[in-house]
Amino acid sequence: MDFHCHLDLYPNAKAVAEEAARRNEFTWLVTTSPRAYEATSKVLGHVPRVLITPGLHPELVARRASELPELLKQIEQTAAVGEIGIDGSYRFKASLPVQRQVFEAAVSRSRELGGKVLSIHSRGAVKDVLTILLKHPGYGTAVLHWFTGTVAEMEAAYKMGCWFSVGPAAFSSEAGSAMAARLPRERVVPESDGPFAEENGAPIQPWSMKRTAQLFAPHWECTEHEALAALHANGQRLLRTIDWPS
Ligand SMILES: [Zn+2]
Repeated sequence: MDFHCHLDLYPNAKAVAEEAARRNEFTWLVTTSPRAYEATSKVLGHVPRVLITPGLHPELVARRASELPELLKQIEQTAAVGEIGIDGSYRFKASLPVQRQVFEAAVSRSRELGGKVLSIHSRGAVKDVLTILLKHPGYGTAVLHWFTGTVAEMEAAYKMGCWFSVGPAAFSSEAGSAMAARLPRERVVPESDGPFAEENGAPIQPWSMKRTAQLFAPHWECTEHEALAALHANGQRLLRTIDWPS
């Protein structure tokens, strides 16, 4: 299972999609812009067990905010949305006000449509993200991808019912490892975030759940097998909230 990957951006996307369909029970392909969503849906077509969702990546909002109306339209036809969110890091500070507007519009639209499952980017902006989610109860289910906030923010997110998608790259720094270890175990699902996320210089593949389990096991003080079973059970539970014909 993989709850956050940019499968369309691997150089050999079609082959990766086919392999993901073969090896994974579920792969969530999050796109980064409405046009990318359209193109990817066309190029890949229906791939079994691969969910393709519309998004507008916060790092692209400065250049692509004009595509927001398309995103709001696309959300009508999908059970899930992503990648959306806010990036508070220095490089994207100038677009923060627009990022907030775009994210809030997507969350609000999800609420109007009865709730969706959202894959959310929150680097340096967890507080902003949670504030907007709180303003729109009924938005659905939030999955915070590669969470790097504080422990207090993590606890606030947990209380709000948020899930956390975590991949091997989250363990590449000591701070990342420490945070991953503290995440509430029953709300963690696997992700790859490939091909952006890398391990040992190579892009992580969508079938990296075993590797993620291996990295969680010592922190959870269990065997790799038990960690894998926990991630899998969580994934199935979250998957049941996504209203999708697969
Ligand atoms: Zn991503």
